[in-house]
Amino acid sequence: MERFVRLVAPTNRVDFCTKLIALVLICGIFNHLRDLVTDGFDQADPFMNNLFDASFTALPMCAFALLLISHLNALQTRLYKQAMRDTLTGLFNRRWFMANTPEQISAGQALMIVDIDYFKRINDTFGHDKGDEALTSMAKHLDAQLGEYASCARIGGEEFAIFFARSVPEELTAIARAISSGFLFEAEPDKPQKVTASVGLVYGREGLSRVEAIKLADEAVYQAKENGRACFSEAESSPKLRVLP
Ligand code: GH3
Ligand code: MG
Ligand code: MG
Repeated sequence: MERFVRLVAPTNRVDFCTKLIALVLICGIFNHLRDLVTDGFDQADPFMNNLFDASFTALPMCAFALLLISHLNALQTRLYKQAMRDTLTGLFNRRWFMANTPEQISAGQALMIVDIDYFKRINDTFGHDKGDEALTSMAKHLDAQLGEYASCARIGGEEFAIFFARSVPEELTAIARAISSGFLFEAEPDKPQKVTASVGLVYGREGLSRVEAIKLADEAVYQAKENGRACFSEAESSPKLRVLP
């Protein structure tokens, strides 16, 4: 049904008129068929008469149906966007990430998990609203570091996941370093707080599932936490971890 609505919904005025004409034409054909069945081939009215007949009733009904379908399509699109977006940061959410990241993280691709350091302290010290602001600032910080090959989502409270469709190790190292070193957050006027993150990075390879990649990247985050936070860890193909400053 969703596909049908998307297909039939008019995209602009010209499309609306084209679809309206097509629908009225279909009604005319059905009207003519009914005439053929009830009156017989010889007695039936000419097709153009039947089309003209049908148009009077079909035109307003078809126009109304198209308007309704157009409204349904707009509603459907809005609901889909709402279901896939995190309302606080505007980033994609976990559902989107799971639906749009490939099942297998292949060679040449990569996955990163970012966890804000000591985030609870921001909430406890400055209040939940300031914590929310810090999350939004982190989303902007991430956006500023990422290029066109990265898709970023907020997958948990203060956790973000990034899928890289193309991974060049030097570039990813620079990105991970920039993300983990954080940004200055002005929780109160003239009291800038450094907000840093622990980052776990895993490179794709043959046979590495998305689930496994997330698990490895998560383990790498914990390694970065143990290593003092504000840094990143790289999970190698094997579960063994390489810690980088
Ligand atoms: P660590 O460095 O070990 O990651 O410590 P942490 O404080 O960042 O991690 P912890 O798991 O102890 O705390 C995460 C906090 O994030 C707890 C929770 O209240 C808060 N949080 C989760 N979602 C939101 C949110 O949407 N807004 C705000 N303001 N806080 C949130
Ligand atoms: Mg966390
Ligand atoms: Mg944290």
